[in-house]
Amino acid sequence: MAATLRVLQADPKAGYLAHKAEIDAAVARVLDTGWYILGQEVAAFEKEFAAFAGAAHGVGVANGTDALEIALRGLGIGPGDGVLTVSHTAVATVAAIDLVGATPVLGDIEPAFYTLDPKALDAAFAGDVTGGVGGKPKIKAVIVVHLYGQPADMTAIAATAKRHGAAIIEDCAQAHGARLGGKHVGAFGDAAAFSLYPTKNLGAFGDGGIVTTNDSTLAEKIRALREYGWHQRYISDLKGMNTRLDELHAAMLRVRLTYLAADNARRNAIADAYDRGLAGVCPLPARRAGASHVFHQYVIRVAGRAAVQERLRDLGIGTNVHYPVPVHLQPAYKGQTWMVGGGLAATEQAAGEVLSLPMFPQLTDTQVAEVIAAVKQVLAK
Ligand SMILES: *Cc1c(COP(=O)(O)O)cnc(C)c1O
Repeated sequence: MAATLRVLQADPKAGYLAHKAEIDAAVARVLDTGWYILGQEVAAFEKEFAAFAGAAHGVGVANGTDALEIALRGLGIGPGDGVLTVSHTAVATVAAIDLVGATPVLGDIEPAFYTLDPKALDAAFAGDVTGGVGGKPKIKAVIVVHLYGQPADMTAIAATAKRHGAAIIEDCAQAHGARLGGKHVGAFGDAAAFSLYPTKNLGAFGDGGIVTTNDSTLAEKIRALREYGWHQRYISDLKGMNTRLDELHAAMLRVRLTYLAADNARRNAIADAYDRGLAGVCPLPARRAGASHVFHQYVIRVAGRAAVQERLRDLGIGTNVHYPVPVHLQPAYKGQTWMVGGGLAATEQAAGEVLSLPMFPQLTDTQVAEVIAAVKQVLAK
């Protein structure tokens, strides 16, 4: 199927070919050292990424889900604790809460921005939750997802969470480089989790993740938890896990990090072109005032989505849906998660309508024009 498409929805190989010589050299350099796990490349990447993200510390881990899990563990969140997040997200956000034995509490989104509605915090802290099993959970932490590259309303969310003494973790898996009021996402909470999955704004050629924080005690604890709870080799002070970032990935990520700002600028230029070309054709993504969006995805809304996707595919245009089934309706989680208020109406409506257009930095202007023409043709009355 992919071979017949003229424009892919995402293309991690294009990200390799754009900087092939530098990436190949980084791989050769690491292979030649004979040191493949937690060495100088990981240490350098952690420093360079933390500097990029405006954080004091970075701890490389094996993937974005582990980054969320280890941040929760580091903050002491576990069984009996409620963690508020959204249902309109990658399942990983909720899986991480479940993995530490805590209880997910899912709030609705602001429909224009696809991020946690600050009003959900007041309701959740007031105990206005339904749908779960057992006693109502007490919210000890909030995981805020900056979905599609759009910063959530951190000013309102952080103020309410702090008033109730809840920890804040930012899920920045789709938002490397995004800012709100000039401040990098990830810098608003206690810790932030970034995925480095191949299609993310900063992607490895395999799995990877990183946790950032300004809290040196928390950073040191997460660093120990990453490798069996060791501060000293073979002595487990804490019950830890194994979630290490490889030297090879770190070396390649260091190359890609130098292009991240330019890549995000290109994503914004593509989004601007879509905005101009598709104005009046269908609902387009809103941009939060004071925020710089990094367009991990460019998401429109359509009616009759399956047919629209099929017709676009026939015209050679790849699309994707992020995400078709909200977590509270997923077979594995249904009936087990608490929901804030009477239900998640905005989430369920979004899940039925969202459509992600092709978005990656190597898209050419010609391809962007092809996408616009095809979407106009398919959505024309
Ligand atoms: C990709 C993603 C994750 C999980 O990252 P992995 O590296 O795939 O484990 C978590 N949250 C969000 C919002 C994501 O997009």
